[in-house]
Amino acid sequence: MSHPEWTEEGDGPLLFAAESGPAAPATGEAWTVLVVDDEPDVFAATCLALREVEILGRPLRFLHASGAAEALALLVAHPEIAVILLDVVMDSESAGLDLVARIRGEFKLMKPRIILRTGQPGYAPEMRAIRDYDINDYRIKSELTRTRLFTVLTAALRSYQTLEAVEANRADLQALLEAQTGLLAAETLPAFAEGVLTRMAALFRVPVEGVFCGGGRRASDGGEPHRVVAATGHYAKWTWQRIDHLAAEPPIQAVQKALADRRSLHGGGGLALYLPSRTGSDAVVWLAGIERGHRLEGGLFAMFVQSTAVAADGVRLVERLREAAYVDNLTRLANRSALVEAIDDLLHDPPDLPYRLLLVDIDQFSEINETFGDRIGDALLHGVAARLEAGAGSAVRVARVANDTFAAVGPREALVPDDWARRMNMPFEVEGLGIGLSVSFGGVELDAGCRSGGEAIKMAYSALKRAKQAGHRSVAFYSHEVANEIKERTRLLHGLRAAFEQQRLFLVYQPQVEAGSGRTIALEALMRWRTEDGRLVPPDRFIPVAEQSGLIKDLGAWAMRSAIAQAAALHAAGHALRLAVNVSMNQLLVPDFKRMVGEALAAGGLPATALELEITESVAMQSPDVVLPKLAALKAMGVGVAIDDFGTGHSSLSSLEKLAPDRLKIDRSFITGLDAETGGDSIAAMIIELARSLGVKVVAEGVETARQRQRLQALGCHELQGYLFARPLAVADLPDWLARPPMAGEAPP
Ligand code: C2E
Ligand code: MG
Ligand code: MG
Repeated sequence: MSHPEWTEEGDGPLLFAAESGPAAPATGEAWTVLVVDDEPDVFAATCLALREVEILGRPLRFLHASGAAEALALLVAHPEIAVILLDVVMDSESAGLDLVARIRGEFKLMKPRIILRTGQPGYAPEMRAIRDYDINDYRIKSELTRTRLFTVLTAALRSYQTLEAVEANRADLQALLEAQTGLLAAETLPAFAEGVLTRMAALFRVPVEGVFCGGGRRASDGGEPHRVVAATGHYAKWTWQRIDHLAAEPPIQAVQKALADRRSLHGGGGLALYLPSRTGSDAVVWLAGIERGHRLEGGLFAMFVQSTAVAADGVRLVERLREAAYVDNLTRLANRSALVEAIDDLLHDPPDLPYRLLLVDIDQFSEINETFGDRIGDALLHGVAARLEAGAGSAVRVARVANDTFAAVGPREALVPDDWARRMNMPFEVEGLGIGLSVSFGGVELDAGCRSGGEAIKMAYSALKRAKQAGHRSVAFYSHEVANEIKERTRLLHGLRAAFEQQRLFLVYQPQVEAGSGRTIALEALMRWRTEDGRLVPPDRFIPVAEQSGLIKDLGAWAMRSAIAQAAALHAAGHALRLAVNVSMNQLLVPDFKRMVGEALAAGGLPATALELEITESVAMQSPDVVLPKLAALKAMGVGVAIDDFGTGHSSLSSLEKLAPDRLKIDRSFITGLDAETGGDSIAAMIIELARSLGVKVVAEGVETARQRQRLQALGCHELQGYLFARPLAVADLPDWLARPPMAGEAPP
């Protein structure tokens, strides 16, 4: 095993010699010698002979026992007894050896050295007993001169000392193994660091007063400052501070010197133990009160340092792996996996208070990102993360679960969407810009029957989706009804896709007539879906699903082509009718929508002027900047534009002027009111007036009664559509319908 470089500060000797011998016990303490002899004179003579003698730097202290029982009692009471001078023959010839047998065998006292003495020369002790009982020497009393006694005792004490050192090392080795085993269980650097401090203090038998400095990297490895990762006792207040901010403190100075010199040293009133690292993030443990020349043996000590350093590297690796698995790279918040686990824990061990999960999603973040660029986008995400964290109480956990979607889980009263919306609505200062954001929320109560963290997040997402559909700054909470609705929509979408592929979608045509004559002037194409079992699914049900999924692009293109082909055929047959086709926002935004329309017109040979696109008011007004140029290009081709469901949206007059539609379609809801005896016609009247002043035509949809027809005519609306004239007709029924005489109305009053 190689030893770390390990010297004392200054010119001092090597603290730990690699080939260190037994540790030197503190001088001054006396060796205890037990004299067992039934003749008190012998004891007195021994004491006298060795008066004021020092052996191996320590004086001697004598205890006397005159029999076996007394000797055993003293041995138990004085574990420090190093040597026993034992009379072989006392009350019986075997008394001495019997006592030895009990000391070693019964009392298991292996350390004290035993020197047998006998007064009778020529009496041969049993050689086997001497070997078996670990007896150091056998002497005849008269032979033991003062000098002899000194030599014999010195040899015995030296061997006692060796035994003591071996035993101490064995204890240290045991402690060391235990220390390492515990350390390897730590998963975070602070937990590990605390473990090192306590175990190191135990090894050195000093109080746990110290610091563990680490977590940094050398400048050559990216340069991050070292911190006090763990601190105990008097130094606890330094925890997590940067060591360069504590540079005035003597212990930290020792730490810094140890880091700079890459070696362990004494300083600041303690020992700074340098832990090298293979991964460039070395550490130093500093422990107060460890004196120069402490008793820990060199080889063992080196082993502690090395294995601790290796374990520290391991912990850092585990920590980095955990971090990669549970921390969001950009914001350093918990990530989705961490959130899932946190919720799992909450569900497993439910808190007393009601808890909820709230997803916080930035409205139109992709647009913000496109407008300002990724850098500012990232800075905004940081800002949002910081505000979420600042606003979250200690019981709330904040995470980032997707690009611009954050999450907070905690007690219900700490997660009130209005409060969080207010925090988010203040502008964010980014690179001198004040950028305003709005957020939407999707939430789920954790007692709402979710079984896992993953499921809770899914539920909150479905609520968020619903909130997003409702527009900006919205809040929605998960409910089973909503969940069922979403499931139903998904089912519907699958069915719709299949129906489209199997050509089970078809178009019907509803006539628009001239108010006075009842003559058909236009046909509106309306989509129909007949399921395999013959049911008709209303378009109000499947069109929104198609729009949300994007399937409307394909459906719409198909409807456009078939309707144009159908209208072209009618034109060819002499029915020069206008064709109205409904167009959704998604369709309009397809880059080659205009080309598709142009090609369909060309293919059927239908003049562009015979086609009118019906755009709902909400679509037309939603993003005028995007919609207006698209419509302008189509209008330039000669295609007409009608604003559908007019009166239900929020048209601005200026946008309406810019859009310059050819026709407004008064929404059916304003037509129903026309049946009333008085009133009920004010909105219809206003729309008709508006159309007149804009120089735009107007058509009423949903006309069901003769009275409605009459009132509309009176108000100046000259085009009508509704069940009064015809329900939407199948293609096969069109020729008959067109051949019928028109249904003229009564002359207006
Ligand atoms: P819309 O464009 O406003 O179509 C008029 C709706 O009113 C049609 O419902 C029509 O059948 C119904 N209607 C017509 N006259 C009356 C009446 O006198 N009384 C009543 N109660 N209803 C009347 P429909 O066919 O169910 O279509 C519903 C909506 O689905 C349409 O509203 C339109 O927004 C959408 N839609 C239908 N086909 C298409 C399509 O091909 N593309 C797109 N994007 N949307 C379509
Ligand atoms: Mg329509
Ligand atoms: Mg309509």
